[in-house]
Amino acid sequence: MAYDPNNVFAKILRGEIPCKKVHESAHSLAFHDINPLSPIHVLVIPKGAYVGFDDFAAKASAEEQADYVKAIGDTARLVGADEGGYRLLSNCGVNANQEVPHLHVHIFGGRRLGRMLKKDGE
Ligand code: AMP
Repeated sequence: MAYDPNNVFAKILRGEIPCKKVHESAHSLAFHDINPLSPIHVLVIPKGAYVGFDDFAAKASAEEQADYVKAIGDTARLVGADEGGYRLLSNCGVNANQEVPHLHVHIFGGRRLGRMLKKDGE
C-alpha cells in the first residue's frame, strides 16, 4: 500500500490539525487517542511516512526504530500506564481493521483489559 500523505496522522505531524501531545522525540510523537477505549489510551507514531508496522520494520533506519521503541516505553511511563500494566497494539492492514494508514501503536491501560482476542466464532 502506498503512503497517503493526507491521512489524519500526517496532518497532525504537519500541524494542520491539533493533537493532545504526550511526548515527542527526534523521530516519534505520542498523543491521546481522540476516542479512548480505556482510561489510558495513547497513540505513538513515527514521524516518518510509514504505512504500518511491516513498512517500518522493512524500511526505517535503525535510529528511527530505536527511537520509536524507546518513545513507546517512555510514553507508557509518562502517562502512568506502567504502574498497573498495559497493552500495546498495532493494527496492520485489512485483517486487523487498520483505519489510519500511518503506523501507530496503541497504549491501553488504566483498567483490567481482559483477554487479548476473541477466538474464532465467539
Ligand atoms: P486503528 O484502527 O488502529 O487504525 O486506529 C486508529 C485510531 O486513531 C482510532 O483509535 C481513532 O480513535 C484514532 N484517531 C483518529 N483520528 C484521530 C485524531 N485526530 N486524533 C487522535 N486519534 C485519532
